[in-house]
Amino acid sequence: MARQYARMAGLAELDLHGDSLEEVLTRIVDAATELLPADRGASVLLWDARREEFTAASSTIVDQDGDKVAGRVRASGGASRFVVDHQEQIAVHDIEHDPFGANDINHEYGIGAYAATPIVSQGRSVGVLYALEPDPRHWTRDDLAFLRTLAERAAAAIERARLAEEAAYQRDRAEVLSFVANSLIGASSLDSVLRTIVDSVLAGIAADHVELRTTGIALETTTPMVITGPEAIIGIERVQALAAARGRASDAEFGLAIGADELRREVGVDVGTAAVAPLRYRGRTIGYLTALRDPGADDFDGEDAALLSAMANQAVVSVENARLMEETEEALLELSAVYEIVQAQNREIGLEQMLSAIAEVVSSALPADRVAVGVFPGSEEELEHVVTGGPERAVDPTALMERLDEIVSSCPDETILEPGDDEHGPRLIAPLRHRSKMVALLVAHRCVGSNPFGPHELEMANVMGAQVAVAVANALLIEETQRLALTDSLTGINNRRHLFELGQRSFGAAKRYGRPLSAVMFDIDHFKAVNDTYGHGVGDEVLVEVAARARRTVRDVDVLGRYGGEEFVVLLPETDRERGKTAAERIRAAIGDKPIETAAGPLTVTVSAGIAEVAPDMNELVDLIDCADQALYEAKNAGRDCVRCFDEPVPAP
Ligand code: GH3
Ligand code: MG
Ligand code: MG
Repeated sequence: MARQYARMAGLAELDLHGDSLEEVLTRIVDAATELLPADRGASVLLWDARREEFTAASSTIVDQDGDKVAGRVRASGGASRFVVDHQEQIAVHDIEHDPFGANDINHEYGIGAYAATPIVSQGRSVGVLYALEPDPRHWTRDDLAFLRTLAERAAAAIERARLAEEAAYQRDRAEVLSFVANSLIGASSLDSVLRTIVDSVLAGIAADHVELRTTGIALETTTPMVITGPEAIIGIERVQALAAARGRASDAEFGLAIGADELRREVGVDVGTAAVAPLRYRGRTIGYLTALRDPGADDFDGEDAALLSAMANQAVVSVENARLMEETEEALLELSAVYEIVQAQNREIGLEQMLSAIAEVVSSALPADRVAVGVFPGSEEELEHVVTGGPERAVDPTALMERLDEIVSSCPDETILEPGDDEHGPRLIAPLRHRSKMVALLVAHRCVGSNPFGPHELEMANVMGAQVAVAVANALLIEETQRLALTDSLTGINNRRHLFELGQRSFGAAKRYGRPLSAVMFDIDHFKAVNDTYGHGVGDEVLVEVAARARRTVRDVDVLGRYGGEEFVVLLPETDRERGKTAAERIRAAIGDKPIETAAGPLTVTVSAGIAEVAPDMNELVDLIDCADQALYEAKNAGRDCVRCFDEPVPAP
């Protein structure tokens, strides 16, 4: 009774908690040994249901000579397993008639009997606690009741220790991952990213060799990347082991651990243990992160595999980012070329020049054999300014155009990848939108039989496409603004400023190269009367039609502009006075010979015209225009609806 009392007092004071699970187990067996008649000691075994084996154990068991036999405790499978499985307490078990099968300890060390009880936590058996005693008659009911109470207390302490260890493990894992993440941020090249990942695995799960192998995002790139741990040469067996591990993981979504025994069976020799995690990118396995531990070390376990998996996830993102960065470094440079083009556009180059530059940039960045770009200046139906670029000039441009027209009508939202067939090469078709309006269409083409465009190219095309869309939108805007600044809003022909700008160039060239140049100035006859009679609106209609007829009459190289209210000037390069006179005559006839349809009905208006040719004494464009003006004055004086030449004798009446 005194012992019983002391024992209850001891139990009350008993603190089973410890910093680690190991410490907790030690306290449990110490308490059992001390407070029970267990002359041969006590033991606690924890059951790992997943692996179906006892894992953690602590023991104070000694043999008849008093020597510890802890190392063999795990082997005492039979009875302990029964207790765990059936959650039954075994009161006093006589080893001579062992109903639980082999009980090595008892046989070998001659221990008399034991009492065992399951450790039950949340309805599950997590282990077994037992005590050994040479003489089973020493045990009482109270001893067994105490063993059960101790097991209950032990269950709570074990549970707590396990939670603490799990938390610590998660903390470690988080630390490893954040270390990996931080290192990766600092890693600038693909090489250093790979090195960082490998180093993290080596340290993070205590591996001796690490291999990172990927087939790449775009599966057509087959260059494998292999990096190994500290020992550069790992031997053929380990290479085989890595291959075996990869094979095992080929269908796995998460990492898995392969024990040394298992791996030996596959490779034929002892290569240690392996852990492998597939590198998963957008639902596909694009490679493997594999770790090996040398023979003799502990097997990798599920937790190692899980951590490796987490590192593999981190790795795949970083590897692909780094690779994309490296691969697009050139493209990025060229993107800045696109930017330069936009800038240049502001200064001098035209839309089509910009488009061909873009086509070249895109074709070398993707790469593609031929690239066509066209823009939608107005509606989304009409594709204009289609230009091509890229090395493969033999590609029939009309084939690309036809395809463009077809696509224009379907007006897709997203970039389309076409694998190509025997007849057509692979294509990438990107509608380029700016503020949801389709501004351009880009088609990249590879020759028949080439690799199709993959997700990597799609991504690049989208990045470049966004830039190009802005460039095109800007260019269109600039063109429109310039057009508005240079043209006369009523008639649509050059305004006076632009007329002088263009005229200056023609005048300079003519003077420099001694080439002929003529200017025609014409003015509507009695236009005041048109306004007075029919109103300004009708007057405007007449002005528009006069300009239109003049435009249709002159050549493309000629520069037609509105000089003043109803006065117009045409500059005729490479044209002497005689031919200029003919041109002026044609204009006069085109305007005056046919009535103009107006809101007030058909009206016939005539024009008078004066013409002058560049002469050695003229230094400025205005000199030439002044002379044409003087000739016009003469034409008016001569009765209107006629042409007069400057510096030419007036024909006798
Ligand atoms: P002339 O044969 O001597 O040239 O006689 P005219 O009546 O044409 O005389 P003048 O050239 O002096 O008259 C110019 C007129 O053109 C005056 C002005 O009302 C008219 N005008 C100038 N600009 C515009 C315009 O933009 N719209 C309209 N409707 N009329 C204009
Ligand atoms: Mg007039
Ligand atoms: Mg006038």
